[in-house]
Amino acid sequence: MTFKVRIESSGREFSVQDKETVLAAALRQGITLAYSCRNGACGTCKARIVSGRVDYGSYEDKALSEAEKSAGAVLLCQAVPLTDLVVQAKEINAAKDIPIRIMPCRVMQLQKLAHDVMQVSLKLAEGQRLQFLAGQYIDILLSGNLRRSFSLATAPSTDELLQLHIRHVPDGHFTEQVFSKMKERDLLRFQGPLGTFFLREESDSPAILVAGGTGFAPMKSILEHAFAQGFQRPLHLYWGARARRDLYLDELPRSWAQKYPNFRYTPVLSETRPEDQWTGRQGWVHAALIADYPDLSRHEVYASGPPPMIDALKQAVKVHGLKEDRLYYDSFEFAHIAAKV
Ligand SMILES: Cc1cc2nc3c(=O)[nH]c(=O)nc-3n(C[C@H](O)[C@H](O)[C@H](O)COP(=O)(O)OP(=O)(O)OC[C@H]3O[C@@H](n4cnc5c(N)ncnc54)[C@H](O)[C@@H]3O)c2cc1C
Repeated sequence: MTFKVRIESSGREFSVQDKETVLAAALRQGITLAYSCRNGACGTCKARIVSGRVDYGSYEDKALSEAEKSAGAVLLCQAVPLTDLVVQAKEINAAKDIPIRIMPCRVMQLQKLAHDVMQVSLKLAEGQRLQFLAGQYIDILLSGNLRRSFSLATAPSTDELLQLHIRHVPDGHFTEQVFSKMKERDLLRFQGPLGTFFLREESDSPAILVAGGTGFAPMKSILEHAFAQGFQRPLHLYWGARARRDLYLDELPRSWAQKYPNFRYTPVLSETRPEDQWTGRQGWVHAALIADYPDLSRHEVYASGPPPMIDALKQAVKVHGLKEDRLYYDSFEFAHIAAKV
């Protein structure tokens, strides 16, 4: 059974096949709606049903509360139509002409950047190139129909090698392999580019970027792209980590701050170790941001990293004047529900 979905604001229509989610159907037909984790966990794809009925699928309460659901909200990455639908959803035009492809690649280099972070450099087949927006991610495709998401840490203009910063999750199905078994020249397959986390280039508002741990990866891509393009808008990166050893490329943003007058860098540590001899900012990264910017009404905030950091940040910026549509984030949710695209 096929159903029709209409996006109320633009009037664009697409069809959804049996058991297909609204998001998967939209992407398949070249319509990019706001989304991130595709696991029903982050809430980025939240939309409103104007008319029609859906099977809401599986999702976390923090991503869609009962109250929001009663008011018509739905997560498009999980929702499967039961009738034709009209929805209010955010269309993301910048990503609409970029095809999502499945591509083979070879592991060219494995470099440990910290005790639990591996930089994995991937090379595409001869003559192949991945078109993507700085900040987007890819899914590594594994046997058994499993997939794991990782942000691209390189800017689109330097796509000779695609780099990932992979944090070791103890006993994690994939990241355990990266740290124990993966070798240079191994072959992988990925699907991408995915997600709608990228710098809104049409805006000249000051942008605050908040990274937690390996959340630095998409920020590196975004910032290297912004510097290469000569963007002049103010850019302020906060990088939150436990201890000094977790700021695994600390020298890089420090060197950018010397070089680019529109860029500032504030590292923030939450669990310093005696050997750190840290004289910089301490505590939670979102608290440091709010202390520096109690009024966010003129800003955009971009955030990537662990779900607890994203959740705390979302709450904090709400009461400090940030407009709802000016918070962009990739929450590094793990793949507890098979992502559907
Ligand atoms: C859009 C997106 C982008 C991402 N980008 C990056 C990136 O650039 N770098 C990076 O290091 N990670 C990133 N992640 C997170 C990454 O995908 C997961 O950490 C990874 O899938 C873990 O895979 P695994 O097979 O090793 O662990 P699994 O076998 O899936 O997990 C084993 C168990 O470990 C726990 N666990 C796993 N991951 C996490 C987590 N993130 N937080 C808390 N507990 C966890 C869970 O209890 C889980 O059941 C991203 C996630 C998303 C959704």
